[in-house]
Amino acid sequence: MTSSESSFTSPEVQSFIFESLPGRTRFGSGTLALLASEVAALGGKRALVVCTGGSSDTAVRRAVELLGPLHRATFAEAVMHTPVQVTRTALEVAAMVDADCIVSIGGGSAIGLGKAIALLTDLPQVVVPTTYAGSEMTPLLGQTENGVKTTQRTLKVLPETVIYDVDLTLSLPPVTSVVSGMNAMAHAIEALYAENTNPVIALMAEAGISALYKGLQQVFLNPASNDGRWQVLYGAWLSAVCLGTTQMGLHHKLCHEIGGTFNLPHAQTHAIMLPHSLAFNAPAVAPAQAVIRRALGEDDTAGLLFDLLADSTAPCGLRDLGMPESGIETIVDAVLAKPYANPRELERDPLRRVIANAWVGARPETGDGKR
Ligand code: NAD
Repeated sequence: MTSSESSFTSPEVQSFIFESLPGRTRFGSGTLALLASEVAALGGKRALVVCTGGSSDTAVRRAVELLGPLHRATFAEAVMHTPVQVTRTALEVAAMVDADCIVSIGGGSAIGLGKAIALLTDLPQVVVPTTYAGSEMTPLLGQTENGVKTTQRTLKVLPETVIYDVDLTLSLPPVTSVVSGMNAMAHAIEALYAENTNPVIALMAEAGISALYKGLQQVFLNPASNDGRWQVLYGAWLSAVCLGTTQMGLHHKLCHEIGGTFNLPHAQTHAIMLPHSLAFNAPAVAPAQAVIRRALGEDDTAGLLFDLLADSTAPCGLRDLGMPESGIETIVDAVLAKPYANPRELERDPLRRVIANAWVGARPETGDGKR
């Protein structure tokens, strides 16, 4: 494939479906200032702000100020994987203040809680993402109850309005930025070989991977780099659209099972698994690989992503995140029991090797088993 060819050159992928999702996106620097007008545009008069109790506090305080009389209450107890117990408490607060709108500010944890409230109340959502996880552009909701994580896809949880403000990402530490950015990149990479991929998504995915990679390099060297921060958030938005409109494959299935079973941090799990799942699928997805190579400017795409993670000083092995070695077999069983559609057939031994390599933190194997 030459550099001018797209992933849509082979006959088997020339017919496609393109479905776009409803939703309004405001993107830029200083865009948080639009919050009150965007809430009002949805008819909101009594907003419930949801967030985590973490370091995006400054953004939350500013949002509450900006909302002024439109602010009714703040619920700051969002945590990872959206436990239904937390949602129940948030629903009580929403009812107590007669909220007519949800404003979620933060990463995927805050956004997940906002979506869970919307699922049960039909309240409109204005979402202000401050990481690169991508939940804001998807009709997907993962929830946990009694240690079991279930995911559903419904337009009821798709946020009506999303405000991306580059300024709010300046406080993300460089290492967190790299792992969260790699979480975003995983959406774009899997979208390129999804069963329901299409030419529009392929364009967005390529631009997303490229912007994320270039931006992350800048952000790591200079976390205050406006251009770098803009690139990464722009790439995260493109990748989030990819996630919302295509079916994810092995990589997302692995992260879902690993993160859910061992309660591992979401972005870090994605960042560790991505080089390995990409190397595993590469031999089966030549057109997608050509696009990824072009976006990254490197032939050894999996090796490049492994180096990006290793150079950031983030952990490279699942064992560093606390996954027990016995968990490797547990995950192989879980993935094979209920696999996602994937371009390369899943067999027990190669799959176990992928997870075992990621567990140790070794360099990913290439398609022919070499490093
Ligand atoms: P997170 O939301 O848990 O955030 C991680 C930490 O970063 C938190 O402590 C938070 O307070 C802090 N933080 C957030 N923004 C910050 C900022 N700008 N500066 C400094 N600190 C900041 O983690 P995440 O990776 O964004 O999201 C993970 C969750 O999102 C998981 O529950 C995952 O399942 C979900 N998710 C869902 C979807 C979907 O489509 N449904 C997609 C991606 C992720």
